[in-house]
Amino acid sequence: MTNKYMYFIANWKMFGGLNSLNSLHKVDRFLKNFKKNKSIKLIFCPPSTLIRPMSKKLINSRIEVGSQNCHENEDYGAFTGFVNSKMLKDVGAKYVILGHSENRKCGETNKLINLKVKSALKTGLKVIFCIGETLKEKKRKITNQILSKQIKFGLQKINKKKNILIAYEPVWSIGTGLIPKSKELFTTINFIKKKTKLNVIYGGSVNPKNIHELKSINNIDGFLIGGASQDPKKFIDIIKKTYN
Ligand code: PEP
Repeated sequence: MTNKYMYFIANWKMFGGLNSLNSLHKVDRFLKNFKKNKSIKLIFCPPSTLIRPMSKKLINSRIEVGSQNCHENEDYGAFTGFVNSKMLKDVGAKYVILGHSENRKCGETNKLINLKVKSALKTGLKVIFCIGETLKEKKRKITNQILSKQIKFGLQKINKKKNILIAYEPVWSIGTGLIPKSKELFTTINFIKKKTKLNVIYGGSVNPKNIHELKSINNIDGFLIGGASQDPKKFIDIIKKTYN
């Protein structure tokens, strides 16, 4: 995506039941009263079980709903335990996170992710495409090579990229409390932007304490927030602090 929004995307991972939806109204109320609300996009990606009830709850809200993954097959099929982009769209998802390192770790290859991206875009979902290097790769100073490969093969043969948003998530930063050094992050985001000509957000241990440091990196188009997004107070705090 190349529009000028600041994105705040919540990745709830495998957390949350129906009662977790009760806190959404706090975020919605905050957004409605927030002076910058026209220039920000809030997207919640709950587990698949909550997409429908969450979409219903947010029917009069500017908050949008996304999924955390999808099957690569865009038609129905005999794939026990999976859901495809058509099914996700049907229950209210507008976005899908693809290529998350927790799924790459479970065996998702660039080739498979590429099929998923194509199928999601064809169905009309917007894609939050995750890339990032492991600690080992960072230490070997091959971050740019890894990112280039993930971009090249993950986005292969996709001509229309306008519905893709890149999420740079260093694997060593996810859930660890560690974030990249500001200068390093600026340079990497710049590298990805030059390569893809797309908007790039950052993800990995974003919280109300480190957001001051992160927001000062002025080429970031938003944040993908895991752990901290499950607490509405922390999530709202992150947004507020991005603007003061
Ligand atoms: C994520 O898993 O996408 C993520 C950003 O997690 P956390 O914020 O918990 O590091």
